[in-house]
Amino acid sequence: MKKVNYHTHTYRCGHANGNEEEMIQAAIEMGIEDLGMCGHVPLPHYRKHLIQSIPSIRGLRSLLGLIRAFIKNGPGMRMPYKQLEDHLDILRTCQKKYEDQIHIYKGFEAEGLEEYYNYYQTLLYEHKVDYLILGHHFHKHCIHNYYYGKEKMTKKDIYLYCNEVEKALETGLFSYLAHPDLFLIGYNRFDLDAQTVSRRICEKAKELNIPLEVNAGGMRRGVKKINNESIYLYPNTHFWKIASEVGNDVILGFDAHDPSDFNNAMYNQMMRFVNEHQLHVIDHFEFLQGNFEKYQAEYDIR
Ligand SMILES: [Zn+2]
Ligand SMILES: [Zn+2]
Repeated sequence: MKKVNYHTHTYRCGHANGNEEEMIQAAIEMGIEDLGMCGHVPLPHYRKHLIQSIPSIRGLRSLLGLIRAFIKNGPGMRMPYKQLEDHLDILRTCQKKYEDQIHIYKGFEAEGLEEYYNYYQTLLYEHKVDYLILGHHFHKHCIHNYYYGKEKMTKKDIYLYCNEVEKALETGLFSYLAHPDLFLIGYNRFDLDAQTVSRRICEKAKELNIPLEVNAGGMRRGVKKINNESIYLYPNTHFWKIASEVGNDVILGFDAHDPSDFNNAMYNQMMRFVNEHQLHVIDHFEFLQGNFEKYQAEYDIR
């Protein structure tokens, strides 16, 4: 099996280190053959979006986050929209420069926010990117109180996550589902509801033939004690036992935020996890291009 990674951030996301070329060189060094550059998708008309989110703000942390995002015209977690073309230009240059050493693909990790589906479709239709992955972090508006990785996730929150992920996968815009078990970080128990949500997500992905990602980001945080069990926050062992039963295709994602995240120790750790859970690992997948009849590729992105 080839070593591949389709989940690579750069400094442009605001919370990662390494520019495009540094990330690519680190991936080459550890022997990755196919590399997807995949930062959090920059959003156009972002201030308008933020203004619409004001009524949903709860708590000081969310308010401060919104003010910061408004000033920067892009929160800390995603590249400002005005950098998009620059980023893509650099990737095109690197594709040529390193073509003998690595295949580079252009992608973005995108939220399952309906108001952006036409925009995502435009990115794909105009071949600005080769693929999108669904990294569904927020219920809406990308503000802290709607973060699905927050502490104290409620039953209602995990079902919201489930419904939104199912809907998003059905659009055909997203080629795989990143860290599907993100919702378990703050849910902290694998009760009947967590089992139901996990099974629904796995079955929907299976039905649509969309791979699920075992994500190294949670492994880098180490093993945690949760309800007397020592497990990763994610990949969550209970979730992946269900994925194994359902028979999902599984792709490894370094979710690299620093050149040093590309290392064979992490690769081996991920391989150990997938082998222990008897998961069906793949090293390539189809780049889905969206449902053209449903989504209009005419979003005003200029
Ligand atoms: Zn993510
Ligand atoms: Zn990521």
